[in-house]
Amino acid sequence: MMVWLGPLQPSGPNVHRGAIALLLVTLIACGGSPTTPTSPTTPTSPTTPTCSGTVGVSCFGTLHYVEYIPGDFPLVISVPHGGALTPASIPNRTVGTTVTDTNTIELGQAISQAFVTRLGRRPHLVIVHLRRTKLDANREVVEAAQGNADAIRAWNEYHAFVELAMAAVRQRSGTGLYIDLHGHGHAKARLELGYLLSAATLNGTDAQLNGSNAAASSSLRLLAQQSSLTSAALLRGASSLGGLLEGRVPSVPSPSAPSPGSDPYFDGGYSTSRHTLTLPGLQIESHFTGVRDTATSRAAFGDALVTALETFLRVHLGLQPAA
Ligand SMILES: [Zn+2]
Repeated sequence: MMVWLGPLQPSGPNVHRGAIALLLVTLIACGGSPTTPTSPTTPTSPTTPTCSGTVGVSCFGTLHYVEYIPGDFPLVISVPHGGALTPASIPNRTVGTTVTDTNTIELGQAISQAFVTRLGRRPHLVIVHLRRTKLDANREVVEAAQGNADAIRAWNEYHAFVELAMAAVRQRSGTGLYIDLHGHGHAKARLELGYLLSAATLNGTDAQLNGSNAAASSSLRLLAQQSSLTSAALLRGASSLGGLLEGRVPSVPSPSAPSPGSDPYFDGGYSTSRHTLTLPGLQIESHFTGVRDTATSRAAFGDALVTALETFLRVHLGLQPAA
């Protein structure tokens, strides 16, 4: 079924009530070693920040630690690790990874601008402005905020903004895509597309991926359930995201790099697990040179991603931008 995009509906009270806090266990996320799965965590003192939903007009959480820029394109991008704020009121985290994903806020903004330039539509963008030493929003709340009330509130507001954005996408377009945007420091200069499938799983043959119906248990499960394509095709075929980026941005998995092999690889973290229960999505771990390093690189990457995602949404989700 082809779904055409209509005018943006401002987020109303029903959307706020619709923000569902479903928490899943994180497995691996960028910048750190694999974490041991823990029990699902219920956020303390859940907060529901409000936002008018006006396209392109920023809404902020308390003390501007998190920012949500509403969009009108069925894509939600979250950026948890690019922040620079270091308020003294939040002690430095003492457990877990604290490395900043350099220039990823700027990268998210460049991607957003590329959509506006190319399609006249803006994706939803949710940003953490706290430095990762203060908050790691891609972890469950205990490791993320380490007991500090201000950090816990920012964590809650960030995920509530993502859920608000996803509710707006579903209300307007029926479905869409979620991307959790990061930066990695691995030696190989390629995107690591994380679908919540381990390197060991991706290292299997196409027949093994198809036999295990891997895509149905991945972060693309909501897409895979309605697709006639095999798991291997969805994850690393010509119309996979890696396939659609091929020739412009190297990625794994993709047709030319179908599996990580023995190379380090991030398969998706807390936010990808949590937020792909309501929209299909993935984690994008970007390399630095040629993607994040300069404004020119970021603009070029944004343009390549718009081209790839426009096709991805049309082919796999039946979505296409209104003229
Ligand atoms: Zn990261």
